[in-house]
Amino acid sequence: MSDKASRRDFIKSTAIAIAAATAGGVLVPKQSRADQIVSAPVPPAASGQRVLRFSHPTDIHVQPELRGSEGMASAFQHMMSLKDPPQMILTGGDLPMDTAASDATRSAMLWKLFDGILKDNVPATIPIHHTIGNHDIWGRDMKACGATGNEPYFGKQWFLDNFHYEKTYYSFNQAGWHFIVLDSFDVVPHEKAYSSRIAAEQWEWFASDLAATPSTTPIVVVTHIPIISVAAFFSRKMAKSDDIIISRQNMHVDRKKFDTLFAKYPNVKLCLSGHLHLLDRVEYNGVTHICDGAVCGDKWVGPRQRTPEGYSIIDLYADGSFDHQYVTYGWKAEPATGADKDIDG
Ligand SMILES: [Zn+2]
Repeated sequence: MSDKASRRDFIKSTAIAIAAATAGGVLVPKQSRADQIVSAPVPPAASGQRVLRFSHPTDIHVQPELRGSEGMASAFQHMMSLKDPPQMILTGGDLPMDTAASDATRSAMLWKLFDGILKDNVPATIPIHHTIGNHDIWGRDMKACGATGNEPYFGKQWFLDNFHYEKTYYSFNQAGWHFIVLDSFDVVPHEKAYSSRIAAEQWEWFASDLAATPSTTPIVVVTHIPIISVAAFFSRKMAKSDDIIISRQNMHVDRKKFDTLFAKYPNVKLCLSGHLHLLDRVEYNGVTHICDGAVCGDKWVGPRQRTPEGYSIIDLYADGSFDHQYVTYGWKAEPATGADKDIDG
């Protein structure tokens, strides 16, 4: 069956198919061959030419407390000592815990911690790309940060400076695939609350970047907040009524704009996100949306709901297909309370 026929059948048979990654017998369209939680990734499928294996560790939330530093180091050591380690790393945001609500001294310490652990555990030959998370915007909680708003590193600037980036959104090509990393925050820097939305200028760039990508080049889009997610239904930020209401902080409010744009570009294959610390997978209109679990689980107190601490390994193939696996690294939180606190991503 051709890719086109397969996609048509898939669209015909189901408007939206949602499958928890842990479930067996999930509906798997042709572009994805495997999706599972594993403690060590299985070898790539025998057929098809694999062109890249990369990792998507998201929501690391590194901190000295609760052995968070040790946990982050352990995750990257596990990843890099796999029999078949990733050739590239694409982090999903919320890197330290938590520069959005820590004063400048602690924020500097946290970025140093993050950079140091990465440097010590990932060979310099492995390219690393970073996505911005809500916890990476310094001064979002101005009071907790002791920020005035006039600091040269205020807002997203600290993230940019730390990685020597010009913008919080960018794209690059690797192994015949195109990667687009987006900034989910149309944030008013002086407000703690945010809406998950692509700001106007970024949207223009995004649309032109998609248009400039050859239709034969498969595309991965990365955001911190999911564009579409079923795990968002399980978020703790729900209305206390029978209506199912998803917070604007837990799923992109501009998801329809994404859907309209993706209709023009069937080469958009995969959207990756984090933020919820919950693992899910949604197939919608020919695009696979995967929200990966968090490296820190529930911010280092144990798994969040039923998603353990982990990172994903993704194999990309020359034909535009991919495999996704969520890999646990054996972390035992201390104390392993599994506390279900009402916290912010
Ligand atoms: Zn997070």
